[in-house]
Amino acid sequence: MAKIEMIDGKLSVPNNPEIPYINGDGVGIDISPAMIEVVDTAVAKSYAGEKKITWQELLAGEKAFETTGDYLPETTLTSLTENLIAIKGPLMTPIGGGFRSLNVTLRQNFDLFANVRPVAYFTGVASPVKHPENVNMTIFRENTEDIYAGIEFESESADALRLIEILKSDFGINKIRFDKTSAIGIKPVSPDGTKRLVRAAFDHAIANGNTRLTLVHKGNIMKFTEGGFKKWGYEVASEYPTFTVNEFNDIKAASGIEAAKKVKNQALAEGKIYVDDAIADNFLQQILLNPSDYQVVATLNLNGDYISDALAAQVGGIGISPGANINFITGHAIFEATHGTAPDIAGLGLANPSSLILSSVMMLDFMGWGEAALLVKSALAKAIASGQTTRDLGGQLTTAEFTQAIISNI
Ligand code: NAD
Repeated sequence: MAKIEMIDGKLSVPNNPEIPYINGDGVGIDISPAMIEVVDTAVAKSYAGEKKITWQELLAGEKAFETTGDYLPETTLTSLTENLIAIKGPLMTPIGGGFRSLNVTLRQNFDLFANVRPVAYFTGVASPVKHPENVNMTIFRENTEDIYAGIEFESESADALRLIEILKSDFGINKIRFDKTSAIGIKPVSPDGTKRLVRAAFDHAIANGNTRLTLVHKGNIMKFTEGGFKKWGYEVASEYPTFTVNEFNDIKAASGIEAAKKVKNQALAEGKIYVDDAIADNFLQQILLNPSDYQVVATLNLNGDYISDALAAQVGGIGISPGANINFITGHAIFEATHGTAPDIAGLGLANPSSLILSSVMMLDFMGWGEAALLVKSALAKAIASGQTTRDLGGQLTTAEFTQAIISNI
């Protein structure tokens, strides 16, 4: 048993790594053992016993509170610090206790700056659109900044009133429509935060042979925050082999559209990534009208929240879409089911483990164990395509039966 380490900016993964997992609350006890069984089977098959994960259970959430009196015990944080990579089921949000949420605490604690959400269609899943198979995107959502930073002042509170007063007296801001009763939120967006996120998106695009990266923002309205994101995003593009829409437009203005298309095609043939940007509201329209145009998307926190759920719904899969929160610089990464604890079906053996299993596919890919990742993904796809699914996907199987159906395809 050995630890995964970050050495000179590269993840070093031994053949027998220790990987912590958090069962999760509610349906966590149904889906986490299913995920482990599937991953172990795929890893054994892919590497003929040469590689094997040693799973280490960590406590968090309700189970942790019952046994230790703490929702997020220090031992859990220590293990996550040391082991870099972990996978978790959903956690309930404690009422009171000083937490905004356990998930937010984990993200902040390890500065997990990228929320990565791959969205693709699985044949057999009911979708509300005609061609869900045209969706195949990975969203890189900035996870630490934006209006989500949690800097808010309640309506009519002394702090809100004082801040409004300072804005008036020191900054000459007289356009707060209701200055006696407005709540105030602060939206920090920095080049540092933007650039590390956009670099992660470019690295992903290159590693996966993607040919297009789109920066999504509302820079037309919020010029310095969202507009800054766009500007810094294009600055990062210049660090990579890219051809941007700005270069395209310059050539078009000088020599016409055919000349611009020719240069773009040449750039793509050379393996360059085409970089463009889209205003968030238009982008939500584009993903419905022309989803196959988009591959890798980098965006701010709030936009990313809306976009990833809209896309997941488009492929019929909020219940099956995976996610991860990653700090690509330190290597800390927590892979997770994106759904909640589903208290209505917890412990009944009815839960669909797909979201967590697909998160394990992301984890295996992150570890460089691509063969096992592919095996898990295709086994899951086959089970779903054959209708051998849990009830939420229209099938009749229990969690355990669905898990065995996946394993029989490995
Ligand atoms: P939820 O995702 O738990 O449930 C919404 C609906 O989806 C329910 O009908 C549920 O039965 C169904 N569902 C969810 N996961 C399923 C699965 N794997 N298989 C089959 N059906 C599934 O959302 P909620 O009810 O709003 O939240 C419940 C709790 O979960 C709250 O405490 C919330 O804070 C927490 N939560 C945690 C996370 C997380 O840890 N990442 C995310 C969202 C919500």
